[in-house]
Amino acid sequence: MLASTIFALSLTGLPVYAQSSSASSSAPASASSSSAVSSAVASSGAASAASSGASSSAAVSTTNTEATALTFSLTVTNPTAVPLASITANETSLATIPLPSTASPGATNTFLSGAPALPNPTSIVSSNYPTLDKVPPTDSDEVQQWIAEVAASGISIPNITQTVLGGCPANAEAAADTSRCWWSCTGCVRDTDVQECPTKLTWGLTYDDGPSFYTPNLLTYLTANDLSATFFTVGSRCVQFPNTLQEEYMSGHQIAVHTWSHPYLTTLTNEQVIAELGWTKKIIKDVTGVTPNMMRPPYGDIDDRVRNISIAMGLTPVMWTRMNATATFDTDDFDVHGGLASSYGVLNNWENIITHANEIETGFIVLEHDLFEETVQLATGYILPSAMNQSFDIKPVISCLNKPMSDAYIETNDNSTNPPAASGAVTLSSGAPGSASATGAASNSNSGVGLKVSGMSTALTLGGLFALVALFL
Ligand SMILES: [Zn+2]
Repeated sequence: MLASTIFALSLTGLPVYAQSSSASSSAPASASSSSAVSSAVASSGAASAASSGASSSAAVSTTNTEATALTFSLTVTNPTAVPLASITANETSLATIPLPSTASPGATNTFLSGAPALPNPTSIVSSNYPTLDKVPPTDSDEVQQWIAEVAASGISIPNITQTVLGGCPANAEAAADTSRCWWSCTGCVRDTDVQECPTKLTWGLTYDDGPSFYTPNLLTYLTANDLSATFFTVGSRCVQFPNTLQEEYMSGHQIAVHTWSHPYLTTLTNEQVIAELGWTKKIIKDVTGVTPNMMRPPYGDIDDRVRNISIAMGLTPVMWTRMNATATFDTDDFDVHGGLASSYGVLNNWENIITHANEIETGFIVLEHDLFEETVQLATGYILPSAMNQSFDIKPVISCLNKPMSDAYIETNDNSTNPPAASGAVTLSSGAPGSASATGAASNSNSGVGLKVSGMSTALTLGGLFALVALFL
């Protein structure tokens, strides 16, 4: 899923992150084919990288990117599904479904005990936030405070060089450096990462990049079928669609962080990573009243530096399941909008995911998106009906980890089942090789990112005192 990105504004005002899932070093000419909205003004530096990036982790997705037919028999669909042949990059935008209901300011979330009252979305004023879809400046009072909090967290941020745009091929030395645990290139995870659900055939359902115009369509379907998901939301979209974010939250879905402007985080400075995560935490808190404690790095672009910054900010990284370089649980649905994948290819990928889900001993997490009409049509028309027919146990990530929804937010986590700080969605293995306890000093060794922290939440934006215990793995 790593490769390149072109960031642009679409005709609908939503950003288009052109990316290629190609494992080939000759990725499709993303710059020209990235979307139907190639009036696109690429962000600085991105265009030049657009055709060079590639990931070794998404080969499963590329097999069918230009598929024009299914490789299996489609047995279950939503009767109202849009025909596959009509789900294309050039499709006409259909009318969206209105939000199922409008959450009322001051309301209490009945799914969460102890949740603060729901803020009034009219209080969200874009001028109070950084420019949408750009890496926020790091000299603001807010970001400076978050930087200080990370420094005071006791969690060591490894001195790992930034990467450059272009993914693994453009960063050969970094890609070969296994000590940095760069997931994009090696699939490396630490015990702090969530990459699957523990129980076989359990699906931790996730959607990235929203809220969007099309999210209400997805929410309507999920509600009708009594399904809940984790939404990894982009801060800039939360500013645009606060009512939709509130609806997600009040409907019992889990809200989590997917950065402010959707950059490749390993290309940013420490301070920029902090700004990206901090502002997204803040807008989610401002809109919903609660602060999430999980994050997903855009494109899965995480190494030990980004990982430890996330953990220091109280955010547990959540990836998608990866069996090996050619078997990732990525539907590649994102690339339909950009014309880099077909709807048939996405469903062929999904069929492979079903096969793999039955092979592994754990549950699984899949990469899907609620940003585009195409991705929502594929989810509601085909993938979710198929998944329910498979009898997968479908639930948000926090739930698939056997934690209550209240553990997904700082304000409602009672700390009993989910110690905060490293946000606690993950309990690290103790007694691992080299494990040791320390206070306020994390290991900076090759394997030193495993951190378990107890005590006060590091995610309290006004926090300054952190009682930390780090375990080295
Ligand atoms: Zn994303």
